[in-house]
Amino acid sequence: MASAHPVRVRFCPSPTGNPHVGLVRTALFNWAFARHHGGTLVFRIEDTDVARDSEESYHQLLDSMRWLGLDWDEGPEVGGPHAPYRQSQRMDIYADVAAKLLDGGYAYRCYCTADELEARREAARKAGKPSGYDGKCRDLTAGQIAEYESQDRSFIVRFRMPDETITFTDLVRGELTFAPENVTDFGIVRANGTPLYTLVNPVDDALMEITHVLRGEDLLSSTPRQIALYRALAELGIGTGRTPAFGHLPYVMGEGNKKLSKRDPQSSLNLYRERGFLPEGLLNYLSLLGWSIAEDRDIFTMEEMVAAFDITEVNANPARFDLKKCEAINATHLREMPVEEFTAACAPWLTAPYAPWKPEAFDQAAFEALAPLAQTRLTVLSDITDNVDFLFLDEPVYDEASWQKAMKPGAAELLRTARAKLAEADWRADALKDAVLAAGEEHGLKLGKAQAPVRVAVTGRTVGLPLFESLEVLGRDRTLSRVDATLARLAA
Ligand code: GLU
Ligand code: ZN
Repeated sequence: MASAHPVRVRFCPSPTGNPHVGLVRTALFNWAFARHHGGTLVFRIEDTDVARDSEESYHQLLDSMRWLGLDWDEGPEVGGPHAPYRQSQRMDIYADVAAKLLDGGYAYRCYCTADELEARREAARKAGKPSGYDGKCRDLTAGQIAEYESQDRSFIVRFRMPDETITFTDLVRGELTFAPENVTDFGIVRANGTPLYTLVNPVDDALMEITHVLRGEDLLSSTPRQIALYRALAELGIGTGRTPAFGHLPYVMGEGNKKLSKRDPQSSLNLYRERGFLPEGLLNYLSLLGWSIAEDRDIFTMEEMVAAFDITEVNANPARFDLKKCEAINATHLREMPVEEFTAACAPWLTAPYAPWKPEAFDQAAFEALAPLAQTRLTVLSDITDNVDFLFLDEPVYDEASWQKAMKPGAAELLRTARAKLAEADWRADALKDAVLAAGEEHGLKLGKAQAPVRVAVTGRTVGLPLFESLEVLGRDRTLSRVDATLARLAA
């Protein structure tokens, strides 16, 4: 996109609660847009709501962005020409702008109480009229103001919407038009004097020279108001005087075709981290929520995304969050890692609190011997624990369902034969396979059926890494003693 001004976008979450995947998608699209155009990503913290914002959430946001590898050019811990980037540290700026808007007649004091507003809204609804603010305080006389002040009424500051239709071309949705009766005067400063999102967000976009606002569809209704506010700011000489372009990203739908909500467990970024998604796997999937790199192509790197990303190709239709697909994409990224990187990435899941074995029982060489086989099978890194726990536990965790399935009548006989053959075998995967194959033949069983009781006896589960390689790494003594223990248990 040829742009007269260098691209400047922003990611500006409010630090409330845990970061969720919808928020990450917004961050990602802004980041990719900035990187594609060689522009600037501003990371701004919108923390002007003391009742809802938390310091913990602020730290989580930064930590999440760092984990994801979504780097920012201006913002917390990085600084920049428009610092500070936390709105809670910019209150003087907003007070000053609000005063200028009041002085210039772009905003006014609204003395209506919450009860009065509600009663009038209700009446409008009953009469079938639009129920936004009715403009009562728009043009109060000096006498009326004096009267309210003498009653000790508090006031909010309300922005005066121009009485005209607002049209803009959304980068995702095309031309959008808002009629004045649907966009009424709105509050910009609370009765306690603190500024609202409706003020601070466009003021900072203007001051921080933002050229493109890419954000969720849920914010679409605030856009005509913000456009009107930019115009007022321009007339007051605040900021660049230019209104940014807007692109509203599609909703993300969860189960049952409902909007994926922040409270949905499936939406929590921390959950994906704890399960061991790779940042590049998760980001690859999230970039498909509304965008695609090419038909029939699901797997790509962030470098490839950046090279191809075009906001005007984003689809306006709601995108469905599909956990299975997200997992499959992650699994592909896991498989494509260099094996040393994969083994290193497993490390957190091989120690407490994830790993159930004693720390001293862990054997890096044994793990590395099986890691390449695990790498092709995992969906998420945390799966590694269950796949290799039999190597490091004194006794495997016997999964009850697996036991029932494998230890059918005849299993003891098979295990006895297999034990005898294993005891004589060369301790190499191919020879161990021949031993179990031969044991199966004696009992009229194919390899698959014959190896099931051996697998459960030694690893505790019916599914896992390739069995004979696992036995080779586990070693003769431990393998045979587990088979013996299983035979004793079956006899009891
Ligand atoms: N702080 C706002 C939010 O998290 C940002 C909205 C915007 O991108 O304009 O909803
Ligand atoms: Zn009023």
